[in-house]
Amino acid sequence: MQGGGNGGTGAARADERAAMVEHLRDRAAASDPRVLEVMREVPRHLFVPRAHRADAYKDSPLRIGEGQTISAPHMVAIMLDAAGLRSGQRVLEIGTGSGYHAACTWALVRPDGHVHTMERHGALAEEAKANLAAAEEAGLFGVVDGVTVRVGDGTLGHPDEAPYDRIHVTAAAPDIPDPLKEQLADGGVLLCPVGGRYRQTLMRLSRRGDALREEDLGGCAFVPLKGEHGW
Ligand code: SAH
Repeated sequence: MQGGGNGGTGAARADERAAMVEHLRDRAAASDPRVLEVMREVPRHLFVPRAHRADAYKDSPLRIGEGQTISAPHMVAIMLDAAGLRSGQRVLEIGTGSGYHAACTWALVRPDGHVHTMERHGALAEEAKANLAAAEEAGLFGVVDGVTVRVGDGTLGHPDEAPYDRIHVTAAAPDIPDPLKEQLADGGVLLCPVGGRYRQTLMRLSRRGDALREEDLGGCAFVPLKGEHGW
């Protein structure tokens, strides 16, 4: 299938991506079929350091430098699904890492939605921008304009662009940072792994006016969220 048959987007390694998505379907990682469609489209290998590219379509986290990891595909699928992403939404992501999760998120909110993503390591932010540009080059048209990468302490959020329809944190916090709750729009949904060093619970917070409802979506394992409202 190299070179055709999937709309031109990231045609390279399309068969491996299709196999990864079949595995995610078997695992019932996502109930929204659009989640699996975008994961079949976004070229994950372009978000992984060259040394790990061969493993890009295995369902496991991979090292991306600075002691950080790109999440396993099933965890990205679970979070994309749990967020309930729709075209036109404005999203804040804390923990850009490789930029992969941000790219998948954008693919679900395009063409008019936008992803603001924050990373505390400047080197990773630069790498993520290069990865997004490579994905655009491979056919994921619009992703560079659709995702804004910023360097900073994401536990403070990004008040200038608030409120956000969706906020997701891809590192584990001691508690959901208050500034993020404050920057969540009415009707908005926030996802954040909460808990100790090695094992956490994925929490989903939904806002209706001033009321915040919290749900426990199950176990997960993320690198720690550092910063003023982190560890
Ligand atoms: N979503 C990423 C995976 C992120 S790993 C991907 O798709 O590849 C978690 C990331 O959170 C790391 O890159 C880490 O540096 C970053 N991080 C940790 N604390 C942070 C903070 N306070 N603000 C912004 N980024 C933070």
